[in-house]
Amino acid sequence: MAVSTFFSAIKAELSKEAKLLSDPNTEEFKSALERWTDRDLKSPSAIVVVVTEEDIIKTVNLALKHDVPFVPKSGGHSSWSTIGQEGIIIDLSNYNKVAIDKSTKTVTIQSGVVNKQLITALYENDLCLPLGGGNTIGSVPQALGGGLCALSKLGGNTSDNILSARLITATGKLITVDSSTPDLLWALKGAGQYFGLTTSLTLQAYPISTLRSDDGTLWTGTYIFAIDKTGSLASVAAILMDDEEHNSANIAVVTLNPESGSPCLLVMCLFFGSTAEAEQYTSPIKALGPVVVMENRIKYSEINDGMDAFCAKGGFKRFKLMGAKRFDPEPWAEVADIFVDLKKQCPDVISGGHGFEWVTGKQKKIGGDSAWAHEEVKVWVESLSWHTSPTSIPTVDAATEKALTIATRSFKPEELHTYQNFSRDTSLISRFGSQERVERLQALKRKWDPKGVFTDVLL
Ligand SMILES: Cc1cc2nc3c(=O)[nH]c(=O)nc-3n(C[C@H](O)[C@H](O)[C@H](O)COP(=O)(O)OP(=O)(O)OC[C@H]3O[C@@H](n4cnc5c(N)ncnc54)[C@H](O)[C@@H]3O)c2cc1C
Repeated sequence: MAVSTFFSAIKAELSKEAKLLSDPNTEEFKSALERWTDRDLKSPSAIVVVVTEEDIIKTVNLALKHDVPFVPKSGGHSSWSTIGQEGIIIDLSNYNKVAIDKSTKTVTIQSGVVNKQLITALYENDLCLPLGGGNTIGSVPQALGGGLCALSKLGGNTSDNILSARLITATGKLITVDSSTPDLLWALKGAGQYFGLTTSLTLQAYPISTLRSDDGTLWTGTYIFAIDKTGSLASVAAILMDDEEHNSANIAVVTLNPESGSPCLLVMCLFFGSTAEAEQYTSPIKALGPVVVMENRIKYSEINDGMDAFCAKGGFKRFKLMGAKRFDPEPWAEVADIFVDLKKQCPDVISGGHGFEWVTGKQKKIGGDSAWAHEEVKVWVESLSWHTSPTSIPTVDAATEKALTIATRSFKPEELHTYQNFSRDTSLISRFGSQERVERLQALKRKWDPKGVFTDVLL
């Protein structure tokens, strides 16, 4: 009832280019519904594809007036931008302009911008910014949740660089959040998805020379190893993680060889500096005897291209992470075996795997205190499951839990961090770092969104 009244009202209010998609059988609806994962994918009563800020404000206000629950969707990489027949999706992907001010080195992004588009625009203007490692990730939601970034040692994480936001609050009002609203700005930097719909963000960018090269390039190395090298690689990585001299971002994952489809160990390094320095940094990795070696200098605009395969839409996927201030290499040979067994049990596992990622270099202090609590994490242990049949979910989930439990078995629970952009069911302290930070966020949530319009996280 509420939804049908909302439909007639919204049709009259939207701009000419905006769309109200309500027929689930049309190709347009199906395409707008596509997300990174098909797990828990629901079908809403409508998808409102907005193109102006005014469209977003009107949609939120009418949804509030008619009591229609809604979720914003930007790049669709999370498991939360989905809702059933009781509600609607506000699809922001066509509200996607990037505006760069070269004099202040600042960039303003509308909420449908994805990382590749932003990085390309920055590169064309001799600028760069710490962003997450996926081209199709929505830059605004990623920034609001903090950011695990290849450039985090050189420029903080994405949320550290938020200068201001335009935010539609739980009462439907558009406000500017900046240094004149310090509490809310503090909360948006790491917990921003729970306080309103951010229509745009302004971020501080950096000269491209921050990449430590003269020509806006960085170095990449991709190595494939036999899976039985996983334990040795973990021991080498444990030493490399303490390297404060070289700036690099690295991921090691037990996955499937894209050529043969058999389990293998994949290591990907991004290095900021000269090729000679990169070769020195990666020499202990190469000494383990990879079967495939691909090394190259790439443009900054290509920094995330190596992750494209993991960002594809569709399939049953789930990404779980745990961070810690130290790394234990000992369990990793065992973790590799769990993936090998899983592939035998579930032939529909087509990619993903278990791994860990780390960033090296000396930490530059950027920004002050914020809702982001993971700056001291040295390594993120992760499990990305990816299969094609829903019947495999229980087996795949059990393997994920087993792998993460074994990989972190020498840690006390209070040592482990979880990342708010991947989890809404782990403890608040593991997501936000301390009781004090959690209580401050909860008080702000009660003030700005007491009814949980933007999720009940923190209520
Ligand atoms: C393969 C893969 C790789 C990843 N790699 C990284 C990485 O390297 N670093 C990193 O930091 N993160 C990484 N992530 C996590 C990613 O940053 C988060 O999942 C991010 O929130 C996704 O944003 P999205 O727009 O694509 O997703 P969406 O599902 O569209 O949005 C994410 C959440 O934000 C809400 N939301 C959307 N738009 C707005 C808005 N304008 N205002 C308020 N709320 C909004 C949605 O309702 C949803 O709850 C990765 C995720 C995947 C799947």
